[in-house]
Amino acid sequence: AATAVAAEEEPITPPVQVHYTQLLINGQFVDAASAFSSASLYCGKTFPTLDPRTGEVIAHVAEGEAEDVNRAVAAARKAFDEGSWPRMTAYDRSRIMYRFADLIEKHNNEIAALETWDNGKPYEQAAEMEIPSLTRVIRYYAGWADKIHGLTVPADGPHHVQVLHEPIGVAGQIIPWNFPLLLYGWKVGPALACGNTIVVKTAEQTPLSALYVSKLAHEVPSAVQVLTVDITSANVDSTYFHDKDPFPFPAFQMKAGLPPGVLNVISGFGPTAGASLASHMNVDKLSFTGSTDTGRIVLELAARSNLKPVTLELGGKSPFIVCEDADVDKAVELAHRALFFNQGQCCCSGSRTFVHEHVYDEFVEKAKERALKRTVGDPFRKGVEQGPQIDEKQFNKTLDYIRSGVESGATLQAGGGRVGSKGYFIQPTIFSDVKDEMTIAREEIFGPVQSILKFKNIDEVMVRANATRYGLAAGVFTKNLNTANTLIRGLKVGTVWINCFFVFDAAIPFGGFKMSGQGREKGMYGLKNYLQVKAVVTPLENPAW
Ligand code: NAD
Repeated sequence: AATAVAAEEEPITPPVQVHYTQLLINGQFVDAASAFSSASLYCGKTFPTLDPRTGEVIAHVAEGEAEDVNRAVAAARKAFDEGSWPRMTAYDRSRIMYRFADLIEKHNNEIAALETWDNGKPYEQAAEMEIPSLTRVIRYYAGWADKIHGLTVPADGPHHVQVLHEPIGVAGQIIPWNFPLLLYGWKVGPALACGNTIVVKTAEQTPLSALYVSKLAHEVPSAVQVLTVDITSANVDSTYFHDKDPFPFPAFQMKAGLPPGVLNVISGFGPTAGASLASHMNVDKLSFTGSTDTGRIVLELAARSNLKPVTLELGGKSPFIVCEDADVDKAVELAHRALFFNQGQCCCSGSRTFVHEHVYDEFVEKAKERALKRTVGDPFRKGVEQGPQIDEKQFNKTLDYIRSGVESGATLQAGGGRVGSKGYFIQPTIFSDVKDEMTIAREEIFGPVQSILKFKNIDEVMVRANATRYGLAAGVFTKNLNTANTLIRGLKVGTVWINCFFVFDAAIPFGGFKMSGQGREKGMYGLKNYLQVKAVVTPLENPAW
């Protein structure tokens, strides 16, 4: 009952204002090219972005379409082909990225509030997890910028062979709504570090935060400090100078903001703006995060246009395996978080909770108790663990899956309906006695619905855990090293968490096996997506040594 009351209360006024709603092209905010109507008063086309707590309009945002994508790609192309970004020293790129990260950190709470408003995720989680993780990943890749280098190869014959690692060019990046900024960071960070230029297409449900953050990247300070450096014979004192002033040692100048055209942001819809980017002949690389069905579409668009390489981060139906020797209390809590975090809207949610038959009843009872205690309400309220689903479509889809669970004979242990009468809040829902063939055990629900399945032994659970088209992640709870090792080797997934879950670190690669994706993001693997490899062969005139 307490949860229902929280959701019924008047929505808290967000402690932030919306400043940017236009498209960010070539360092400028501009209207969409297409007219909203044929009325004489010209006004670029817009679409509303909604507050998931109420369904009310937060702001009208410029709606980018093919012509806008063309403009953004042209700006990115020019910045890549003629601009300073790929040509400046890697150290300078690194410093600009560190500065960008500092600015994100400085505005952490404002960005978090914007995200909560547009997405519905609890403010505390945005402010303490998602935005700090964005800062972290930009810093992580800032650190890589001047450590990316090629190699030499001992080839046959009298030849000197070098392998250069060059930026790939204009990167198109399509982002979903569930972690609008974290996933932006996973893509923008490595692309910038390698010297690429970018066109980001944000999700139509959550356009606001990336506009704010990308504007920060362009910010130019009026004065910057030069640290004391001692190079050649000159001593340069610690001094302030304006960015435009001539300075004798260019390598030591603080470059201020990102040059225009390097990072462009298009708000808009998938079949229009997204498809234009995926099929653009002047985009050299595509990186996509979203559903498996859309992943298939963008891969096809990329193939049919210029065969641009594509990185895909797609859906999942990740197993969370609780063995009989596991610490049940800890497993219950982590299984709860593994499913309900972010309103259940995580691609790698532990959405099939497999529990050993010897601890099954105890686990189900405790999981139910925990779900009933989960606080659902206004995500701006302190202590709230769960906000609304992102929109009406996901809300209805989740309720349909709950109905399907009941109809297929699973036992509804907790939840099962909406919370309150407005907005898109759903009760934390638990099903036990779930069978592998049920729809709720096979399809990605992307909502707060935990399905608990029973297993008898490790061989059996491994086969069942792998019996899915997905292969994103898995959690294993056991104290037995042999059990853990058997599952680590046998599970066909991109990440295995042992006695933990959702441990994300900028340095750990992330991505899927099977239909959960292609390629990896984060860590040094994330750089490969944005580098071209060029082999250079030079004859050795005098191969004496
Ligand atoms: P979605 O695939 O509908 O949308 C994702 C993005 O693709 C959005 O920006 C959307 O506008 C764009 N898009 C939609 N149709 C397009 C088209 N025809 N051409 C080009 N772009 C198009 O997915 P969603 O509903 O926004 O997000 C939820 C899904 O994303 C879930 O299935 C989830 O598993 C998946 N996801 C995966 C990861 C991961 O890292 N693997 C992360 C987050 C979300």
